[in-house]
Amino acid sequence: MKPRAISTSQQPHAPPLIPVDEALETILAHFAPLGSEVVALHEAHRRILADDLIAPHDLPPFRNSAMDGYALRAADIVGASTERPRWLPVAGLSAAGDPPPATLPVGAAMRIMTGAPLPRGADTVVRFEETSEGWEAVNRPADGVLILRSEREGANVRCAGEDVRAGERVLTAGSPLHPPQIALLAALGQAQVAVVRRPRVGILATGDELLPPDAPLAPGRIRNSNEAMLAAWVAQVGGEPWPLGIARDEATALRAKLAEALAVGCDLILTSAGVSVGDFDRVKEVLAAEGEMHFWQVAIKPGKPLAFGVVRHGERHVPLLGLPGNPVASAVAFHVFAQPAIRRMGQRWPLAPPRRTAQLAEPVHNSGRRHYLRAFAWRDEDGTLRVTTRGSGVQRQGSGILSVLAWANCFAIVPEDVYYLETNQPIAVEPIQWAEEEWN
Ligand code: AMP
Ligand code: MG
Repeated sequence: MKPRAISTSQQPHAPPLIPVDEALETILAHFAPLGSEVVALHEAHRRILADDLIAPHDLPPFRNSAMDGYALRAADIVGASTERPRWLPVAGLSAAGDPPPATLPVGAAMRIMTGAPLPRGADTVVRFEETSEGWEAVNRPADGVLILRSEREGANVRCAGEDVRAGERVLTAGSPLHPPQIALLAALGQAQVAVVRRPRVGILATGDELLPPDAPLAPGRIRNSNEAMLAAWVAQVGGEPWPLGIARDEATALRAKLAEALAVGCDLILTSAGVSVGDFDRVKEVLAAEGEMHFWQVAIKPGKPLAFGVVRHGERHVPLLGLPGNPVASAVAFHVFAQPAIRRMGQRWPLAPPRRTAQLAEPVHNSGRRHYLRAFAWRDEDGTLRVTTRGSGVQRQGSGILSVLAWANCFAIVPEDVYYLETNQPIAVEPIQWAEEEWN
């Protein structure tokens, strides 16, 4: 876990900056796919299937009618037409839910409903619309039915196993479960399903200035917005958020919160704030004492200060990612570092957000770090993807400017070695919200 520093700040004693990709690689090396748990089918939506689904039986399980009509033998209605209808006696009824009916007598038809089993002997269903069924009662034969057209053998019949054959692999381990897959599981009798366990992610905000969102403001205090943001984000990427509240900038409080995170079995702990240079040595000290921690200055903007390491818990080593305190920096660090780590544990692909190239609506400057500008991308009438960092009301890009983060729909990313980009130059963009199924 020793990333190579490739660039240094101009300041004489500043720590070296770690490249973003190297920090990410080091972080990801600590995360492995989690095991599985069994959940009720109605709780399986958006989960990841843990095992291949092998069909335990045919689907449909029995031969049945695709239409409301008459089951018969195609051979008995060869040449039938409106001009020359064929009369057949009606031998009983097969309704949906009935057990398989008696064999169809030779030369007869059986009334049959959609989904009802076909009688042995029948090979075809003629829809009511193609029979005397809809005729006025006076014109309808009382003792039988008139068939108004011939049908190819097998018409309107659903064969056993035509959808899925018993023993077939119908879903592969690792598939995300959306409504269609859930329907298939239900049809095959899987009321319980093994899914990848959701990574439990502890979220700990640190700072003496922090108040919960429901507390009245007080002088010098601000609301803890990182917890709510990170909790929503953790859930969004398939994790189970475990909010731990606020720890004062004080060793005992912090230790107690870490102990709580370990006790509830967190797979990852996210902290926010207290990892930059300056007056946060206590947070750093505690983390260092509780495990093996690295405090990095990453070549990213916003969000240079980042801590990463493991917290010891008996035999276990639980990874901890110390995000910056500034809300936008925290968001960028989550997007870049935490999101792929959580997705890897949850076996969700792709790990990182998808990238596209957009055309800049105005020039942008950069200062030697990878810059994640809060931006808004849209498609022109001609289909070109364009992106702006200055939408309506956007005054400034700042690591504490939450309103601009909320306005943005993507990050526009200026590489670390690019200092200036002109209007209309291409720039990479990553959506802040994205659906994995669009990219698989
Ligand atoms: P720090 O990393 O402790 O220097 O914090 C950087 C900035 O982020 C400070 O202005 C903090 O007040 C702010 N901050 C820290 N934690 C939070 C939080 N949980 N929610 C909102 N702002 C925060
Ligand atoms: Mg602080």
